[in-house]
Amino acid sequence: MQQNDPHITLITPTAPMTASSHGGRAKCLQRLVRLDLPVPKTVALSFDAVHRIASGEMPNIRALMEPFGAAPLLCVRPSSEDPDWGGPGAVLNIGMNDAVYVDLSDRLGQDAASAMYLRFVQAYAVHVARLDPDVFDDVGLDGPEGLSEALRAYEDETEEEFPQDPAVQLGEVLRSMARAWEGTTARLLRQAKGAPADAGLGLVVQEMALGLGLGECGSGVIQLVNSKTGLPQITGRYLSQSQGRDALSAGAGAMFLERDPRGPSLQELEPEAFDDLIRHTQLMRTRLREEMQAEFTIENGHVHLLDGVRVARNARAAVRIAVSLAEDGIIPQEEALTRIEPRAINELLHRQIDPEAKRDRITRGIAASPGAASGRIVFSAAEAQASAARGEACILVRRETSSEDVRGMHAAVAVLTERGGMTSHAAVIGRGMGLPCVVGASSLTFNTRRNTLMAPDGREFRAGDIITIDGTNGEVLAGEAPMLEAAQDDAFQTLMGWADEHRDIGVRANADTPADATTARNFGAQGIGLCRTEHMFFEADRLTVMREMIFADDSEDRRAALERLLPMQRADFAELFRIMQGQPVCIRLFDPPLHEFLPSDRAGHRELAEALDLPLSDVTRRVEALSEYNPMLGMRGVRLGITVPEIYEMQARAIFEATIEASRDGDPVVPEVMIPLVSAKREVELVKTRIDGIAAAVRNETGVNFAYRLGVMVETPRAALRAGEIAPFSAFLSFGTNDLTQMTYGLSRDDAGRFMSAYVQQGVFPEDPFHMLDTDGVGELLSIGAERGREVRPDLTLSICGEHGGNPESIAFCRAAGFNYVSCSPFRVPVARLAAAQLAV
Ligand code: PEP
Ligand code: MG
Repeated sequence: MQQNDPHITLITPTAPMTASSHGGRAKCLQRLVRLDLPVPKTVALSFDAVHRIASGEMPNIRALMEPFGAAPLLCVRPSSEDPDWGGPGAVLNIGMNDAVYVDLSDRLGQDAASAMYLRFVQAYAVHVARLDPDVFDDVGLDGPEGLSEALRAYEDETEEEFPQDPAVQLGEVLRSMARAWEGTTARLLRQAKGAPADAGLGLVVQEMALGLGLGECGSGVIQLVNSKTGLPQITGRYLSQSQGRDALSAGAGAMFLERDPRGPSLQELEPEAFDDLIRHTQLMRTRLREEMQAEFTIENGHVHLLDGVRVARNARAAVRIAVSLAEDGIIPQEEALTRIEPRAINELLHRQIDPEAKRDRITRGIAASPGAASGRIVFSAAEAQASAARGEACILVRRETSSEDVRGMHAAVAVLTERGGMTSHAAVIGRGMGLPCVVGASSLTFNTRRNTLMAPDGREFRAGDIITIDGTNGEVLAGEAPMLEAAQDDAFQTLMGWADEHRDIGVRANADTPADATTARNFGAQGIGLCRTEHMFFEADRLTVMREMIFADDSEDRRAALERLLPMQRADFAELFRIMQGQPVCIRLFDPPLHEFLPSDRAGHRELAEALDLPLSDVTRRVEALSEYNPMLGMRGVRLGITVPEIYEMQARAIFEATIEASRDGDPVVPEVMIPLVSAKREVELVKTRIDGIAAAVRNETGVNFAYRLGVMVETPRAALRAGEIAPFSAFLSFGTNDLTQMTYGLSRDDAGRFMSAYVQQGVFPEDPFHMLDTDGVGELLSIGAERGREVRPDLTLSICGEHGGNPESIAFCRAAGFNYVSCSPFRVPVARLAAAQLAV
């Protein structure tokens, strides 16, 4: 062996090596060696050494083999920096040749020797000589005959004898593995898993522990937890007379590890070896500070540990494992928090269809992303966005999805596709977003021209019809199904509790309905950061009153209509206050333009004229008078509050009366009242005066005192720039980054989808700024607003309540800018809590 060559080194407790020089597997093996575990002798080749091999610069192979003594049998395995990046498959039994075969036949029996030689010949043929695996299709699997046939097949195909020199064999195996790593396909595959373009490969050459031969021999894997739940459970498989990971592919032929009523177990067969394995794996857990799976071989009753890898796990198991490592004092709480990718806990948060509920099944597809949701069918991403903008839950139904649909998927509550499988675009993106998704529902007939779906039983579904997607079992149901909220187990609650102890920025939820508020509370929101009150007016009975209000001839008629809305709103707010149990609730005064409450077509006008007992021409004229060329920049938000003040006055009264009511039977409530779409100080001044007046009137009428906080929603660039003069009238500023992004870029939030993908593809925007906060531009406005506001009012509460509020990246920005809290949709609250904690530890 090359003495003192740090690139090719025998793994000893002190050999200089790191995961970024020799790869994760080599580093892990060194840790096992340091723990004095029975690891076969191993030589590690660094990334550099392997790269040189790939370029044709071979090291001295005989020197490399020196530590293994005469006529060793070896295996070579890949050692990339991150095991998830993969690498070429392991090659076992290098060194098998005719002479070793004779010797092993004498010592271990012909069957074992044949099996080992045959395995090597096949691996060598495929990986090194690049023969098609089919070449061996006709080879009988076992015994000396099979071996002879395989050697003959090799020689026929290559027109060469099978190489007999172990150094040549090893050199060729190393070369083929090094080259395989540098191939284009392998590179693209690992880059898709996040590997950098220049990711290196290390290789480990290890003495074989045979697993075949006399006495109890075999191989297997063991871990101490269940990969789905993370709960303690000895799991794994063992197969007598086997090598490598044979036990895992052996199906029913493999043996259980622990005593098991279903079949024979290693514990019964070799109790001492079983106890050793448990002890070794426990030691790995405590000393490697990770739940590990051990790959082992038993040779005549003796255990060898060939490798240790992180136990594969889903999100639920990841949380339980991190929490129990911390509870056992193996890692600190802070580290447990950082071990969970915040977005991964989406998996734990999904609603499910109530198992007791009746199911009107339309069809079944592939359950691609868990959770369930009901909504109206939409057939395009643009319709999905429009639906979301109206606050209506929708289900995006597509033949299959592509990157153009991602914005629509963000806007939808679930996705259904006709085509695709578990790794199709819809499935992968849906899972990533935590969006319930059923793909490959091929029994549905899609009529893309007519925008209809035909169920196998002949029922037809159109855009706007309500269906339910059960992404957990792949069913598509007609209508809305009753749901059960996601169940979070004790480990999840513990982790979230730790997150709350460590984080230093608040997390509230955007919630408009009692159901949202309940979810928000269950997910640990510290209050409601945005209640969009207009969403309370779309129900049929309220809509009629709303329309009467819009058609009122004078202020008195308008007040009369608003009088009827008052008790409804009061009940809405009282309910939210009760659910939030004294936590802050920030209620945004009415925001959208009034025409959104009026029908847009002639038939609708006629119906409305009938309902209100007005001439059709009056209705049409009124609708026309209210219509705007650019309603998003028109008479909405505070502009409506200034011109039709009765609406805000009614809402303020409803808030204050509900405050008194809820405080009477529960925790004291201090409501927050938020003014939307402000651009000038005077708007705030005027609205504040009126609302203070209503508060005084309610106090007088009821004889009950109460406090409230009035604040401003910063959604226009001007409000951010002029925060210094707005802050004296505001207890808080909440940045509405949806509108603020729209106005900063001059990009319509409803239409930008048409060209967004072209913009992102060509690198004009690094990301869709409606999904990822544009920290450069919009972010600068946030910083300016925060700074100017705090300058005049140091106790000013600052927050963000646009869609960006739940993104870990935006949370980092807001925290750095000194914000008090972020507010996001209820399902993103746990993600935000964890992301915030990771910033603080
Ligand atoms: C915003 O503009 O960021 C916001 C939260 O308000 P909405 O999305 O209701 O316009
Ligand atoms: Mg807004």
